[in-house]
Amino acid sequence: MSDETVTPMMAQYLEIKAQNPSALLFYRLGDFYEMFFEDAVAAAEALDITLTQRGFHNGKPIALCGVPYHAAEGYLLTLIRKGFRVAIAEQMEDPAEAKKRGSKSVVKRDVVRLVTPGTLTEDSLLEARRHNYLAAFAEVREESALAWVDISTGELRVMPCPEVRLAPELARLAPREVLVAEHRDHDLGGIVTESGAALSALSRGSFDSTNAEQRLCKLWGVGSLEAFGSFGRSEISAMGALVDYLDLTQRGKLPLLRPPLRESASGAMQIDASTRRNLEISQALSGGREGSLLAAVDRTATAAGARLLERRISSPARDLAVIHQRLESVRFLLEQSRLREDLRTDLRRVPDIDRALSRLALERGGPRDLAAIRTGLTQAENIATRLIDVPPLLHDAAKALVGHATLIELLDQALVAEPPLLARDGGYIATGFDADLDETRRLRDEGRSVIAQMQAEYIALSGVQSLKIKHNNVLGYFIETTALHAEKMFAAPLSETFIHRQTTANQVRFTTLPLNEIETKILNAANHALEIEKRHYEALRAAILDQSGPIGACARGLAEIDLNGAFADLAAAENWAEPRVDDSHAFVITAGRHPVVERALRRQGGAAFVANDCALTEAKIPAIWLLTGPNMAGKSTFLRQNALIALLAQAGSFVPATSAHIGLVSQLFSRVGASDDLARGRSTFMVEMVETAAILNQADDRALVILDEIGRGTATYDGLSIAWATMEHLHETNRCRALFATHYHEMTALSGKLAGVENATVTVKEWDGEVIFLHEVKKGAADRSYGVQVARLAGLPATVIERAKVVLEALESGEREGGSRQKALIDDLPLFRAMPAPAPKPVAKDSKVETALKEVLPDDLTPMEALRLVYQLKEML
Ligand code: ADP
Repeated sequence: MSDETVTPMMAQYLEIKAQNPSALLFYRLGDFYEMFFEDAVAAAEALDITLTQRGFHNGKPIALCGVPYHAAEGYLLTLIRKGFRVAIAEQMEDPAEAKKRGSKSVVKRDVVRLVTPGTLTEDSLLEARRHNYLAAFAEVREESALAWVDISTGELRVMPCPEVRLAPELARLAPREVLVAEHRDHDLGGIVTESGAALSALSRGSFDSTNAEQRLCKLWGVGSLEAFGSFGRSEISAMGALVDYLDLTQRGKLPLLRPPLRESASGAMQIDASTRRNLEISQALSGGREGSLLAAVDRTATAAGARLLERRISSPARDLAVIHQRLESVRFLLEQSRLREDLRTDLRRVPDIDRALSRLALERGGPRDLAAIRTGLTQAENIATRLIDVPPLLHDAAKALVGHATLIELLDQALVAEPPLLARDGGYIATGFDADLDETRRLRDEGRSVIAQMQAEYIALSGVQSLKIKHNNVLGYFIETTALHAEKMFAAPLSETFIHRQTTANQVRFTTLPLNEIETKILNAANHALEIEKRHYEALRAAILDQSGPIGACARGLAEIDLNGAFADLAAAENWAEPRVDDSHAFVITAGRHPVVERALRRQGGAAFVANDCALTEAKIPAIWLLTGPNMAGKSTFLRQNALIALLAQAGSFVPATSAHIGLVSQLFSRVGASDDLARGRSTFMVEMVETAAILNQADDRALVILDEIGRGTATYDGLSIAWATMEHLHETNRCRALFATHYHEMTALSGKLAGVENATVTVKEWDGEVIFLHEVKKGAADRSYGVQVARLAGLPATVIERAKVVLEALESGEREGGSRQKALIDDLPLFRAMPAPAPKPVAKDSKVETALKEVLPDDLTPMEALRLVYQLKEML
């Protein structure tokens, strides 16, 4: 078929679609958003809605599906979660206007917004207690930088970021969407998608730093960005790309953007992506928030406080002064329990000021957002009066809470107590605020009571007792009687007054001239009242946006107070201790606990958590604990709890221990041997080695390293040699603090060779052939593995257990006798001895593998080279 057969509407659709090829197009048609062609097919499948057909295009039926516009948010959420972007094309004029231009003319439509994962603002599409970041990675010559913004709060930050730091920073921020330059799409795409974010490629022009500078200066009304700090070209480029993208997606309505804050990588404890995953900091391994550290420690009273907590836990400080200030505030609020309770009661009434403000800026707000600002600012003033004579951090936060009296008074007078959600229906401006409005409303309401009187008059006139005056949206006001009584009204003299409008199955509807007149009056008054309210809405909105800087500062102050109060509350409820953080290299924890495991045990109502000490003392640098003990004894729990204690302390929280002395930790590393990572398409062993290489290459003398069963992912001797060499490297080259759990007993011999290594074991008791886990960590090496006993606990069939005992016995005696029987039985089983070996094999005689390993300088290895090396080593066996 030729193009002539394309209807004008379809032509318009195709034109708009062509301008937005990468998004699903929601095309507004009356009360629906319709999708056509491939969009319809994709959306119908993603939303599980019916796909239909209508008409033909180029000889083929047109696929079609639609969602009602008033329920669109829910559908949008599903589509965004499934990775779509949605362009929303609205009707830009009243259909009546189009008709006037001629019968063939279509209603003007235009895309008013591009909805993408990183640019959401609606409460229903956002998680209240999490940030929703949009990030941009920019490169200018040799420099590169990362900028990120949460448009639902207006917070914008930027930092220099070499490409190798991109993955860990994305892991820290967990943005929903990341912008990169088109030509880098291919190289960076993997890193971005691995972080769980959607990737959006922009033209290189969007990243142009000269344009960006001008755009940013205009945005904040400054002559030079120096006003906010000194930014590199790549930082400016990254921020410019964000603003460009916001301009594109919001169609010219820029959200409120706070002046940028510059973060420096050296200000925060460095935690890479795998460490974050292993330690389940803000997400449990199962994927959700439940079971994460964040969920276990979150006692914040406000959504903004919860978002601040997430930021702090995701990037603990590395600056002693900052950490001490935070701890001081928590201690103060812990001691002042009455004050804390009062503050928390007030805070629970504080709405989400940031998000209300951002919706108002984007013209997506409503009367409730105005009211949220009113309530928030009022509560802030209350809270400020409680914070007299407080530590510096709280004092600074309190300063931002005051000074809004004029705005509060205005909002108080202007708004009703509980405004409706939508401005559309009016009714949010309070009586007494505007005499004009009050008068108009009086006219409207009087009209309504006149109508009530009319009904009585018409009953008297017609003698029809059941006559009623009703209202609907199509007819407006009308008089209704049953068909039986209507006869009378059609006849003279009543027919002179009652004019027939409509007959339905049982009813007949009439109007009268006076009714029409009064209706027009009511309508005019109601419309006029709406107009007046709308004008006030705009004025109030402007008054709020005019103060957006101080209001934002107030919101930040409230969040800080909330967070410190929440940490104090947690410390009080859980009996946590204030950590001593200084610039030593100590890591001495008394009676430490794992906050998440402890909570889980308590919920199950079973055994109590056994607290354990950890003493990597200053006297020994480097200091490494080598932890042995059977599976299920609690090794992983102990390792992780110590990492989490360091993290909590530097985030400004008290810690689950009776005392903690922590020399500032610069980097936190945690690795688990051969966790299944098939989802990412790599061999588990390769992952383990690449990750171990990253630690050995990066850890400095302030790092805290947690290694759990490294080397487990390969054959025994390979694994042992790698674990062994890793330990030596940590001790000799990285010279850092480390906790190392292993089931290779041979490694316990290292404590005799390396001054900084101490053995520790998680104890178990054997009773009547059963193993009982005591979960107690003490100095020394484990005597045996109890693997067979643990297997029995796990429910392995008795025959298998019996056979395993025989094999074990044979292996153990075989080893004592020189290995011949052992060979005969099986080539490769985990090596456990009844007694610690005097000199382990890898050191005793140099095999080819060992000779090769000795020549290796792990510092100089890239992860790829490390992997290649591992393959070579394996071939040598
Ligand atoms: P491993 O790493 O030695 O195999 P885990 O650390 O995974 O052992 O611990 C196994 C289970 O033992 C945990 O899920 C927990 O329920 C329990 N557990 C561990 N440590 C403790 C402890 N200190 N107190 C009480 N129960 C513990």
